[in-house]
Amino acid sequence: KAGGGKKKEVKKETGLGLSYKKDDNFGEWYSEVVVNGEMIEYYDISGCYIMRPWAISIWETMQKFFDAEIKKMKIQNCYFPLFVSPTVLQKEKDHIEGFAPEVAWVTKSGESDLEVPIAIRPTSETVMYPYFSKWIRGHRDLPLKLNQWCNVVRWEFSNPTPFIRSREFLWQEGHTAFATKSEADDEVLQILELYRRIYEEFLAVPVIKGKKSELEKFAGGLYTTTVEAFIPNTGRGIQGATSHCLGQNFSKMFEIIFENEKGEKAMAWQNSWAYTTRTIGVMVMVHGDDKGLMLPPKVASVQVIVIPVPYKDADTQGIFDACTATVEKLCEAGIRANSDFRDNYSPGWKYSHWEMKGVPLRIEIGPKDLANDQVRAVRRDNGAKIDLPRGSLVERVKELLEEVQESLFVAAKQRRDACIQIVKTWDEFVEALGQRKMILAPWCDEEEVEKDVKARTKGEMGAAKTLCSPLEQPEVPEGTLCFASGKPAKKWTYWGRSY
Ligand code: AMP
Repeated sequence: KAGGGKKKEVKKETGLGLSYKKDDNFGEWYSEVVVNGEMIEYYDISGCYIMRPWAISIWETMQKFFDAEIKKMKIQNCYFPLFVSPTVLQKEKDHIEGFAPEVAWVTKSGESDLEVPIAIRPTSETVMYPYFSKWIRGHRDLPLKLNQWCNVVRWEFSNPTPFIRSREFLWQEGHTAFATKSEADDEVLQILELYRRIYEEFLAVPVIKGKKSELEKFAGGLYTTTVEAFIPNTGRGIQGATSHCLGQNFSKMFEIIFENEKGEKAMAWQNSWAYTTRTIGVMVMVHGDDKGLMLPPKVASVQVIVIPVPYKDADTQGIFDACTATVEKLCEAGIRANSDFRDNYSPGWKYSHWEMKGVPLRIEIGPKDLANDQVRAVRRDNGAKIDLPRGSLVERVKELLEEVQESLFVAAKQRRDACIQIVKTWDEFVEALGQRKMILAPWCDEEEVEKDVKARTKGEMGAAKTLCSPLEQPEVPEGTLCFASGKPAKKWTYWGRSY
């Protein structure tokens, strides 16, 4: 929901600030916060968004971490073309069935129709695997472990939302091939752990590691693991990132065949895995408040904003110098600090501006601070004001940033955990769904039953579906029945509405 010109007028009248509240109108609040926080600009093609430096810097921080981690795992970066020919795209039947409705096609060049239309990658399995087939001959060519950082296009029709569901998005996609299933299985979980760390350690967003149901797994894959986040305000789960084992389905279709040590022909075991710019949207939804964005220090490109607070005929130059010295000292210590010396804005305006942009820590320096050889720090997350002696500035700021990072996670986890509801029966399920819970229920693990739950909960708000079966399974005591079918339950599964 882009919102129209009306909102812009409100903004002009009130200067800074949001015209929607997170708890009152979450959808409008979200669109406003990503725009006013200078992350997103709406674009004239629906479902496409401009990602401004404030957003891309967060992407780059996560990218730096993830890229280094996969390189430790001996995964190499590469780049394959954006375009796919229809014949290869259609090679794996289940895969294309899953993606067909969202594939965008190039049909013309200039005025003339292309002889054969060309697809734009929605994901690159079919782009890459013909070459995997060429490059993999013997067991010594395995494992083959590639990754690329790129954009993909999925012409989604359901409610586009900045970062969360866009028609073009940035991601990394890993594609690996192994001689054995057990190597592939191991890697699936290693990557999933990196995704958990991106969410929990960097974005301070709690996630649940789990396995997708047969209905929800990746089209053409063997099984899909996921890190699932939850947005308490809307009561919707969201697939945070996915690590798939493709089994041998693609290697069969693309003839990724190698000679094993015994000289026999064998098919490769494959994985693919990805996280996208959706991560940023989840972070905004989870931490933002009525003042705007709230960035976890680990991903904030400005962790500390230093603002001079001159007063009448006090020593203005001295205050400015103290601000410059403070920024220098912090930057030397590896803290991302900046100052706001603009003289056409008041300190109060600057406070609101940087709060809107979610900077974790503000430092104010006024005449009193100068006299006391201290600075005043203000936390974005809880508004706490702390006077810091200039002598211990660097250590204290480091501590504070760590505290903010930790408290954001703890607070988000408390809010998420308060939404988790265990149910055993259909009536309890319907009630919990009405209360927008993330529902943990014993399930018989039958596809027909999931379809039936979807059909029975269809409504204005969208149907309920499985989110994931947590890898850490609570015990299923003998005699436990499925909440929906009454058949013997096989596992605990999270259910709810989702993005
Ligand atoms: P997939 O290749 O379908 O497993 O998608 C990989 C990941 O991309 C998913 O786990 C989602 O987190 C994310 N994702 C899927 N669709 C979109 C979209 N339209 N916009 C942004 N992220 C998406």
